[in-house]
Amino acid sequence: MSPTPCVAALMMALAVAFAGRAGASPPVPVRDGQVVLPQEQDGAMPRSVVQPSGQGTKVGAPAFEYDYLPPASPGLQEIHERVLEADLWRQVPEVQAIDGMFALPRRLRFLTAECGGADVFYHPDRAEIVLCYETLRALYEQGQAHQLAMGLGEDHPLHYVRANVRFMVLHETGHALVELLDLPVTGRQEDAVDQLAAILMLRFAGLDETPAQVIDHLRLAANWMLSRSTGAYDLDAYADEHALGEQRFFNLQCLIYGTDPEGFAGMVDAGDLTAARAASCPRETRSASRAWVRLLVPHLAPGYEAYGEEAARYLGRGG
Ligand SMILES: [Zn+2]
Repeated sequence: MSPTPCVAALMMALAVAFAGRAGASPPVPVRDGQVVLPQEQDGAMPRSVVQPSGQGTKVGAPAFEYDYLPPASPGLQEIHERVLEADLWRQVPEVQAIDGMFALPRRLRFLTAECGGADVFYHPDRAEIVLCYETLRALYEQGQAHQLAMGLGEDHPLHYVRANVRFMVLHETGHALVELLDLPVTGRQEDAVDQLAAILMLRFAGLDETPAQVIDHLRLAANWMLSRSTGAYDLDAYADEHALGEQRFFNLQCLIYGTDPEGFAGMVDAGDLTAARAASCPRETRSASRAWVRLLVPHLAPGYEAYGEEAARYLGRGG
């Protein structure tokens, strides 16, 4: 059964999905000036939240810039109005967490725009990350299909949109950081920035979100990867710079499992991960997390020294 595009429902979904999160109070203990979530993951950097000394001043680093470009197509006007009204970019907690954190050589712009097709991309010449209105529509439709297939609640499509927008935008932010900071990446950059997106979500999710909710968002991103895969590949697919959808799915599941192998033991039984791959996932998660921390810490902007100290403690735990 194919979902019927329901523009009105999508408008409502976007308005709800990206609005009204700023006032939520964090259900977490505060210790020594740091907010600490109850379940810290071993493999990835824990979600303790260190406050940078320069927060609010953004000393020395160009801030991100956010914009919502008007679409030409009448059918996309309302999506534009809704994301503008919701101020979508300022509702992505991980983007807000790293805005100003790195000493970038130029300003990085985050745009929503009409593209002529569903896409999310980083434009290196303009230092722009573009999220297409067509992608928001496609995500909502896939969220509806997922809701129907799984018998989920009415709020699922918007939940699906929000989770996937976060992962997609963080993936593109990874491309931007690699290019702007001239970070070394050996191997396939697409895989590396998938890892970074997951690590940023594990580390900088909203304070009102539990670790279980963060993991749930990552699993919806994994579902999107799988949903776009036909399973029938040609040479173009094998030659593509991206891994096959199934491989990206299992790589992301592996990163999730690696944060807590005991807690996610059921993933192997459910077929989300093979036992053979699961055995290496704690090491993979830890290795990817430590590598990204090492790459990014030298580029912290003035005022963010506290993050450097936190990273040093994390890296100092060996391995
Ligand atoms: Zn990419």
